[in-house]
Amino acid sequence: MSTFDAEKIRMDFPILQLKINGKPLVYFDNAATTQKPQAVIDSLIKYYSEINSNVHRGVHFLSEKATNAYEAARKTVQKFINASKPEEIVFVRGTTEGINLVSNTYGLKNLKEGDEIIVSTLEHHSNIVPWQMLCERTGAKLKIIPINKKGEIIFDEFKILVTDKTKFVSVAYISNSLGTINPVKKIIDYAHSNNIPVMLDGAQAVQHTKIDVRDLDCDFFAFSGHKIYGPTGIGVLYGKEKFLEAMPPYQGGGDMIKNVSFEKTTYNDLPYKFEAGTPNIAGSIGLAAALNYVSDLGIDNVAKYEHELLDYGTKKMLEIEDMRIIGTADEKASVISFLVGKTHPYDVGTLLDQLGIAVRTGVHCTEPLMNFFKIPGTVRASLAFYNTKDEIDLLVKAVQRAQTMLL
Ligand code: PLP
Repeated sequence: MSTFDAEKIRMDFPILQLKINGKPLVYFDNAATTQKPQAVIDSLIKYYSEINSNVHRGVHFLSEKATNAYEAARKTVQKFINASKPEEIVFVRGTTEGINLVSNTYGLKNLKEGDEIIVSTLEHHSNIVPWQMLCERTGAKLKIIPINKKGEIIFDEFKILVTDKTKFVSVAYISNSLGTINPVKKIIDYAHSNNIPVMLDGAQAVQHTKIDVRDLDCDFFAFSGHKIYGPTGIGVLYGKEKFLEAMPPYQGGGDMIKNVSFEKTTYNDLPYKFEAGTPNIAGSIGLAAALNYVSDLGIDNVAKYEHELLDYGTKKMLEIEDMRIIGTADEKASVISFLVGKTHPYDVGTLLDQLGIAVRTGVHCTEPLMNFFKIPGTVRASLAFYNTKDEIDLLVKAVQRAQTMLL
């Protein structure tokens, strides 16, 4: 048993004290976005009331203060994911922008007709569509790693897909729809033994498990601030320096240049080469506050507690008649995706909402994955460290009630 005090932690999250439809909010939509602790909210208020200024431009007091806070946030991210240097941390809008940045720069520069990119069946649309767009522009082809009925990547099939045509691999660390933890280290090692770079979509990983990009040895890693208790509109692209250095810029504008003339523009050093225009300064500071908050809790404690909650929730949900859990991987994190009897996910979700329980319904931006299971979607309860076993009991009761109402 972990000694994690979720009840105490909940007090740090003002929104969790809300009532929805007259019932205390039970928030199980954490894979879509997480709630924010007071420390993050305070950091935004402090930024706008005491620091607000543009970065890297002014010599005045506030500009220097904002620049220092922005660069300190970068170092906090660097430490959190154990990158070698702050230069390897590029602030972006989120995972989606991180993946688009890599496909538009590394991808366009290095891929050509006949080359192949590998993703898996369980990817979020944002780790499918940017690569499809790249394929359209270059003539490269997308190859898909199959999964088994439990929702696990079939590693041997991945190995078969890797050929001398393979030029890039991009996979999710953890599936947002199923919670499957993919064997990313094995994938990276195998790809590297064939000289193929690997990008990890870390959107559902940073908040649930310790990330050490050097130990993983991934070449790129993207995540979103809002999924790890930070603000929306800020995220991170980590890239190994040797790759980032060789990549052309993504967008042009202020800050990403060294000198501009009508004849020739020279680009700035890393990471600024990839940060055109005024960045999300407040967001980066809020993200750093979120990472510090999670570090104070201890990501290993978080992982242990969430795992207990997942085991408890899975067991309780399976006590419901006609319950089918979609995604039963041996290695799983924080997601219970389910279908109950012949009910439609939307109907279940709507009834749960009336009881103050927030879940997500639908395809969860993973339409190919839902097609694989031949289902219209699922009801997804995604857990965070502020959820409790009592809330799971409420969910179970509410699903049972929905089931009788929808018969
Ligand atoms: N990848 C995965 C696995 C996700 O779960 C999500 C969001 O749900 C994304 C990518 C996209 O993240 P964002 O919308 O924050 O860019």
